[in-house]
Amino acid sequence: MTVPDHKESVSQGVEAQYRQALDQGRFLIQHCAGCDRAVFYPRMICPHCGADKLAWATPDGRGTVYSTTVVRRKPEAGGDYNVALIDLHEGVRLMSRVEGVAPADVQIGMPVRAQVAQQDGHGLVVFVPNKEAP
Ligand SMILES: [Zn+2]
Repeated sequence: MTVPDHKESVSQGVEAQYRQALDQGRFLIQHCAGCDRAVFYPRMICPHCGADKLAWATPDGRGTVYSTTVVRRKPEAGGDYNVALIDLHEGVRLMSRVEGVAPADVQIGMPVRAQVAQQDGHGLVVFVPNKEAP
């Protein structure tokens, strides 16, 4: 396994594009022209229908907390933080964290909104409570 196969290097290319956009402050997911569904995590082939017609799309950013966990951390290490699975409005689920609220106050079903945070020089998708949601 010294030479990565072609397929693997291409899919790393998709991930590299995703990360590059994040570093520039843009959160992108993919959209499949074959079945008109959203795709995340970035990949070459649609997991729903097998088409290779995936295009980058900007999600509208709205989401809902699917599950939430508080990760305990010593105060000197930055304190507790939240890890959550978020269902995007577009129908894909991603692991992220909810900020702007105490980690233990994040609730399943809470409406949230995506933001791109910068951490260690790289863009990172985080979510904040969406107070404008109905
Ligand atoms: Zn598809």
